[in-house]
Amino acid sequence: MATSRVNSIEVRKINRNAIYRFLYKHDPISIQEIAQTLNMSLPTVTQNLKELQERDLIIETGLFESTGGRKAKAITYNCLKYAIGLDITRNHVGIVLIDLSGKLLNNVRKQYPFVNSKTYFAGVGNLVKLFIEECKIDSSRILGVGIALPAILSKDKQIVNYATVIDFQEGNVKAFSEFIPYPCILSNDANAAGFAELWDEDNIQNVVYLSLNNSVGGSIIIGKNIYSGQNQRSGEFGHMTIVRDGRTCYCGQKGCVDAYCSAKILSDSTNGNIAEFFRLLRLESGPQKALWDEYLTHLIVIINNLRMLYDCNVILGGYAGAYMDEYLEYLRELVSRKNSFEVDGSYLHVCKYKLEATAVGAALQHVESFINNV
Ligand SMILES: [Zn+2]
Repeated sequence: MATSRVNSIEVRKINRNAIYRFLYKHDPISIQEIAQTLNMSLPTVTQNLKELQERDLIIETGLFESTGGRKAKAITYNCLKYAIGLDITRNHVGIVLIDLSGKLLNNVRKQYPFVNSKTYFAGVGNLVKLFIEECKIDSSRILGVGIALPAILSKDKQIVNYATVIDFQEGNVKAFSEFIPYPCILSNDANAAGFAELWDEDNIQNVVYLSLNNSVGGSIIIGKNIYSGQNQRSGEFGHMTIVRDGRTCYCGQKGCVDAYCSAKILSDSTNGNIAEFFRLLRLESGPQKALWDEYLTHLIVIINNLRMLYDCNVILGGYAGAYMDEYLEYLRELVSRKNSFEVDGSYLHVCKYKLEATAVGAALQHVESFINNV
């Protein structure tokens, strides 16, 4: 008796979650269509929708045109829950507000150099507080704050195992959460950005995201999940060796990808301003053209290697990747020339999120966990 009771509670939970996920992924839809598509009985669907409505998780958006008989109600999920995402870098803090659909509603970016001190973390807490006030949203609807760091995290994402871009070795999520009155989750920056790129792509399961930021990183997403590796260090493309005894990398080794393909390689010629680099590059004068050509000789090798390793789409992201749309056809041409099997480079893509992909991906961690637990 006890077992079957537990089972029926489990089954109800599974059904409720399936209905909610279905609504999340579709345009407003009728009860009949939900029942048909999910192969559930009308009473089961109706009962679950009632529960979801009582929890303010779904809304009726109107009536469908009748094809005879009573008009069917159009039902959708209520996107009025929010998540905050932080992109912590060496010199800046980016903050975003997204709704439950993952839509970017507001963002700010402040110069605020990382220091491993209480004053810094209290300052971040204050920036978050001011940002939320400015957004004028009901704070009880905030699911939490996702915090992306240029760091390798422990498996449970509570502790920083490795960080050299910011001085946060052995850092803990508690350093932030002490000053942020919402649930906090840490993410690796490149993993967060890759996660954001795949968020509403239903048909793409596997992707490699190459993050061309001021340090190079990346993420490997297999079956929609981030492949973390044995030591949470997978996708550290920045430290693949591409030049034997080459330039010294910040990690101490020689010839790493980072020393040839970080966004800094380009933006150092324009006082750190990557937009300005690409503006001057378009004019095809000055040192930018030569820098770009040299940068590409390395980038093409890396992209081809990633394609050979993973045989899936490769997305260029990060500060530099975000500007590469207008060069995409040219890059595809270059990578196809290197490819042993393919005559075109259509596997290569440029990131969708030009702004704050990392912070959005960090915020999405809360959205994902919310959806999983409805
Ligand atoms: Zn390195």
